[in-house]
Amino acid sequence: MGKGRLPRLSSFFPVALLACACVCQYVKEGKTPIQSLPLAIHFLWSSNAQPQGPFALMHEYSNETFLNAQRQLDEVAELMNLDAGIHERLRYPRKALIVSVPIKLDNGHTRVFMGYRVQHDLTLGPSKGGIRFHHDVDLGEVAALAMWMTWKCALLNLPYGGAKGGVACFPEEMSITELERVARRYTTEILSMIGPEKDIPAPDMYTNEQIMAWIMDTYSNFIGYAVPGVVTGKPIAVGGSLGRSEATGRGVAFTIKKALEKIDLGTDTPTVAIQGFGNVGSISAKFLHQMGFKVVAITDVEGGIYNPKGIDVPALLAYVKERGSVKGFKNCEVLGASEIFGLEVDVLVPAAIANVITEKNADAVKCKILAEGANGPVTPEADKILNDKGIFVIPGILANAGGVVVSYFEWNQNIQRLFWDEAHIVEKLEYLMGKGFDEMYNIYASKNVDPRTAAMMLGVGRVAEAKKLRGLYP
Ligand code: NAD
Repeated sequence: MGKGRLPRLSSFFPVALLACACVCQYVKEGKTPIQSLPLAIHFLWSSNAQPQGPFALMHEYSNETFLNAQRQLDEVAELMNLDAGIHERLRYPRKALIVSVPIKLDNGHTRVFMGYRVQHDLTLGPSKGGIRFHHDVDLGEVAALAMWMTWKCALLNLPYGGAKGGVACFPEEMSITELERVARRYTTEILSMIGPEKDIPAPDMYTNEQIMAWIMDTYSNFIGYAVPGVVTGKPIAVGGSLGRSEATGRGVAFTIKKALEKIDLGTDTPTVAIQGFGNVGSISAKFLHQMGFKVVAITDVEGGIYNPKGIDVPALLAYVKERGSVKGFKNCEVLGASEIFGLEVDVLVPAAIANVITEKNADAVKCKILAEGANGPVTPEADKILNDKGIFVIPGILANAGGVVVSYFEWNQNIQRLFWDEAHIVEKLEYLMGKGFDEMYNIYASKNVDPRTAAMMLGVGRVAEAKKLRGLYP
């Protein structure tokens, strides 16, 4: 700056951006400027980590989960010495759509929900990713989940990019008819983005086979004929695949078994604690129990149960089918929601929501293997603490990939009008997941990196290689 001259406008940018980030936090989260400061600094740090101008910040996506996903990518990119241009392209979603989902409630009132569909990457094929109905859904979370789907599909060598969608609503409080109206109207609003060759949704939190059937029906009505391949995780009667509803939990249990080939727990009946008892948590429990593990603790959104002698998993599955929650199950002590993470168990499976193991509680985690049934349950700060403690973390992009693998089989069956038997599906699922695990483990063992980094190096590397070969259009 020359003597007597005003400072250059650009020197005000960092301060202005910090102020903007604080204001965004204030508007979005109702936080005071002081409360918003740490997240705002984190956001700016993460955004400025790359050689880009202030106009490339894309704060639309910036929530905690997205920044975590982006930070994981940044760390892996640096380690791999990734081409800066490709890294920059992978940091943001390719496309995002925000829609209003107005529906008539059963009481006659009209309510509008926010819906999202994000496609992170389309390099390797159509994009693929679930749809969740949950009150916490927002653009940043959906974008993070879409990014993880990209790495997951590439890690498993599936010809897909990553996508995700969601509607911010309270599914537990809605009737079946209200849920149907949300599913159909949301599908109508995102219709231009989805299709068997473009983007193929699937179930996620608080969505299920029935909702997939409504999505398939709505899409097919617009197109004029049945298009089963537009969505996976459907009921068998409308083109679903055998083995899909159990695929994610089966894959979680299978990756834990693979980890035990490498890690000696010193027991024939390892103990397990599981957070979440929906599709992923309950099926993981079912298969782990069948494999001889002792499931001792489970929590869901309504409560938790603990029995150090082992929970009767088959009886619990029947109980939850009837009651909707694990709460109050026989012969169990009550377990507090947060207590599950500090239990003395061999294996911990977070299978509910993101960001539950953070720098605040990671030190208390005592398991030897942690398998991420959920997407993003461990924050990057917690990841480092768990690794330092010697806990083997099977990252979600591998541990919970069974769902997308069998979704890929379902999509193939739909396109080819074929029907595979279940034994074939289970065999192929285990083959692909076993291969993914072994490839990840080889990098983990040979490059002295943690398992998540190893898995991401594979996933990111494959997408980056394809991007390099395809070039940058135009
Ligand atoms: P789901 O709706 O079937 O079940 C969610 C479970 O989590 C329920 O038991 C619910 O009570 C519990 N839960 C919700 N909030 C909780 C909280 N705050 N504390 C404790 N428990 C809570 O959902 P799902 O399909 O099992 O998905 C669970 C996780 O697995 C999500 O992160 C999802 O993205 C991931 N995932 C799902 C699939 C799939 O095929 N369904 C595939 C890959 C990853």
